[in-house]
Amino acid sequence: MLTELVDLTDLVDALPEGTVVRDADVIEGYRADMASLVPPGTPVAVVRPRTTEAVSACLAWASRTGTTVVPRGAGTGLSGGATARDDCIVVSLERMDRIREVDPANHTVVVEAGVVNAEVSRAVAEHGLFYPPDPGSFEVSTIGGNLATNAGGMRCVKYGVTRQSVLGLEVVLADGRVLTTGGRTLKDSAGLDLTQLMIGSEGTLGIITSASLRVRPLPESTATFVATFPTLDHGGAALAAICASDMTPSVLEVLDRATVNAVEDHQRMDLDRGTALLLIGQTDGHRSAEDADRLVALCEEAGASMALATSDPEDGQRLMHARRLAGWVVMERGATVVEDVAVPRTRLLQMLQRVEQIGEELGLEICTVGHAGDGNLHPMLCLPDLGPESQDLGLRAADRICQAAIALGGTVTGEHGVGELKRGMLHQQLSETSLSVQAAIKSALDPDGILNPGRGW
Ligand SMILES: Cc1cc2nc3c(=O)[nH]c(=O)nc-3n(C[C@H](O)[C@H](O)[C@H](O)COP(=O)(O)OP(=O)(O)OC[C@H]3O[C@@H](n4cnc5c(N)ncnc54)[C@H](O)[C@@H]3O)c2cc1C
Repeated sequence: MLTELVDLTDLVDALPEGTVVRDADVIEGYRADMASLVPPGTPVAVVRPRTTEAVSACLAWASRTGTTVVPRGAGTGLSGGATARDDCIVVSLERMDRIREVDPANHTVVVEAGVVNAEVSRAVAEHGLFYPPDPGSFEVSTIGGNLATNAGGMRCVKYGVTRQSVLGLEVVLADGRVLTTGGRTLKDSAGLDLTQLMIGSEGTLGIITSASLRVRPLPESTATFVATFPTLDHGGAALAAICASDMTPSVLEVLDRATVNAVEDHQRMDLDRGTALLLIGQTDGHRSAEDADRLVALCEEAGASMALATSDPEDGQRLMHARRLAGWVVMERGATVVEDVAVPRTRLLQMLQRVEQIGEELGLEICTVGHAGDGNLHPMLCLPDLGPESQDLGLRAADRICQAAIALGGTVTGEHGVGELKRGMLHQQLSETSLSVQAAIKSALDPDGILNPGRGW
């Protein structure tokens, strides 16, 4: 086994004591991420650097020795991008968790890659600011992982996904050189945009060690609205009317009947178990209450069985909590594959119907939640177990869902990234030209292919 063949002496010597961990019990916790269909390998070591210099020394060593490197944040990824390979070192950024600078005047905060997403908003809250990208994992996932996957979340419908909140990066390249990109300015046309190149690169082009993030003023008020619909068609009509309106909700989420019931089974919230589709949304800004009322009216016109709005923060939080719980609740029930497709918003209803049909065709329970305002759905495939037959079923369902998304002019991943799980599907979506340009960029930045090979593009 390669564990014995790789000589780690030089790596251990190059790094502060305790940075390189070879203890099998500790290593065990770094083998998998949350993509249940990607089999984890066994790394030769886990490296937990505290500084950019240490990351640089680590990658210089990996380049010299040709050792595979799997970068890791919190391991909440759902595509297998942080799953260990048998002969790799896992570089975990969890100890690079300092907030380097808060600059309220420029609405900027500089954080290290291991800072947990929710901590960024907490760090700037006293200045009346917040960091908008909020993946469902925001209380655990790291900024490095969010950047590497170009994570989305609920507020992205109004404030944009991760890449819209990044001004600059510090990245360690495969050979150990430290690249800084961008800066603090809102505009920057100096050269190719390497910041944006690195975002969404899933640890294949470099290890992000720090980021200059854009934060925004907290809205003066927020209102929440909720609506239930007797059929998917009614819900789809409401979503189409909202998207075509002059309003931009700050949150626009859907839960299907199976998900509503999973949430309600877990915690009684008095959600309507019979609804075909539950829509939860928020509006913010000085017209939040008025906008929420107008959105409720659109839902009613589209045939909602129930629609209401509230400006009470506690009621609003309770409703948002139901949405935030959904992914965790379904995953906790057993073997789950969380899919992630996005389609043009006008085709969301068709995608919802197709997912339902695929579940029926394959005899598979699918709980679907989604960032409806972005046309982004997460059909959660509830497998009987993780045995070979169930895995095969999961892969067949995932493949059909992705093909349906492509056929509707969409993408095989809206926000979770390609990882290892979706590489085959990506090749169905992208052209040969696109793939060859991406291969050329990879080989220019990582000629020996040590950084997260077989993942991403
Ligand atoms: C319940 C639940 C809800 C979720 N909801 C959402 C959601 O709403 N939106 C969304 O987008 N995602 C969501 N996710 C998926 C996941 O949380 C995100 O992909 C998140 O961005 C991963 O962050 P992480 O720190 O866990 O990264 P990891 O899983 O550790 O890594 C993810 C990828 O990034 C790479 N990487 C990690 N850190 C670095 C770094 N510093 N430099 C370079 N590469 C790096 C890894 O190699 C891997 O390819 C959810 C997951 C769960 C379990």
